[in-house]
Amino acid sequence: MEVLVLNSGSSSLKHQLFDMTDGRVLASGLVERIGEAESRVVSRTPGADGALVEHTETVAVADHGAALERIVAALADAGLGRDLAGIGHRVVHGGERFVAPTLIDADVIAGIRDQVPLAPLHNPANLAGIEDALALRPDVPQVAVFDTAFHRTLPEHAYRYAIPTTYYEEHGVRRYGFHGTSHAFVAKRAADHLGRDLDTTNLITAHLGNGASITAIEAGRSVDTSMGLTPLEGLVMGTRSGDLDPAVIFHLERVAGLDSDAVDTVLNKQSGLKGLCGDNDLRTVEERAAAGDAEATLALELYAYRIRKYVGAYTAVLGRVDALVFTAGVGENSPVVRGMVVDGLTGLGYGLDATVNDQRAEGRLLDVTGAGAAVRTLVVPTDEELEIAEQTLACVQQG
Ligand code: AMP
Repeated sequence: MEVLVLNSGSSSLKHQLFDMTDGRVLASGLVERIGEAESRVVSRTPGADGALVEHTETVAVADHGAALERIVAALADAGLGRDLAGIGHRVVHGGERFVAPTLIDADVIAGIRDQVPLAPLHNPANLAGIEDALALRPDVPQVAVFDTAFHRTLPEHAYRYAIPTTYYEEHGVRRYGFHGTSHAFVAKRAADHLGRDLDTTNLITAHLGNGASITAIEAGRSVDTSMGLTPLEGLVMGTRSGDLDPAVIFHLERVAGLDSDAVDTVLNKQSGLKGLCGDNDLRTVEERAAAGDAEATLALELYAYRIRKYVGAYTAVLGRVDALVFTAGVGENSPVVRGMVVDGLTGLGYGLDATVNDQRAEGRLLDVTGAGAAVRTLVVPTDEELEIAEQTLACVQQG
């Protein structure tokens, strides 16, 4: 039983094909720089021995429809993808309407389009992927899986902002939260590792990738999360500022002569680690800091300090924490960041085993809890695509 997962960005289209009987990846790949003269097409399909073999091609791919045709043709050449149980689409913003995986029809497409003002960068690209896939494979049930949906359980005191109610009621201004499929996936894996039912487990999950967010999970349900109306709020990220005084925006408009689009670009694309030290890749920042570079050292300290503050805050929100979970590129691979976060939290019962923490997860779950620590600390590799595939299949099977 096969499920195809599509993640359609503004100039890219990623895919993974899963065998849902065992969660195995049958094929995967991506098309980048769609619409440019030199698009890059990467396709991984099974070779003679069954192991995935990667092919890369540089060729002009005009639009998302053409990219999808290539993907489907490459799958067909490998004898895959003909009998799909479903196609799952990652959709960034579901607004208040979409709080669960949803079988796609014309009304759902219109509803996703209604959320475009909340995610002007992401939802149009997600919609393009959906419309192309429906045109190409109208025979296959297609499901939208929303990044925001896991956070549907936030209580009102966590999701409302203290601004006039009319902006919430008329314009949907509230905290939605993102990375929901990742937080949901690692929460399940963490509870399994702890030998507990997720329904009785309290976790703090830190998804630290290029984008980064942290979630407080009480009895398996998201009760607070650091990203807000958009993915800009919260932690320091590769190029996003995370939390700041909103008056910084008006101040920049008044004293630096920026209009609101320019401020948007500064805060989303030129801030975070990149704004502080010029590099947004945390590996490079760590290397520079280790070599004594002052700007990189400050960037790293600010990055870890913000995470530590949130872990402290969410410990207070939850009262009892069963485990702190690190995931995504940085969370899974940076012992330095994990150390900088947790070593400052011994007073709250957190602690690391330095030897285990020095290991890379490399696809494995690592229990990095230190001796005597009251709260467990885990490194759990995330797999957003597999979570989307599982949610897609469940949605199709429910009808
Ligand atoms: P993601 O968005 O989950 O792919 O994560 C991307 C981020 O993970 C980038 O900032 C990378 O620098 C970071 N990352 C990946 N590997 C490492 C590593 N070994 N050490 C530190 N950061 C890493």
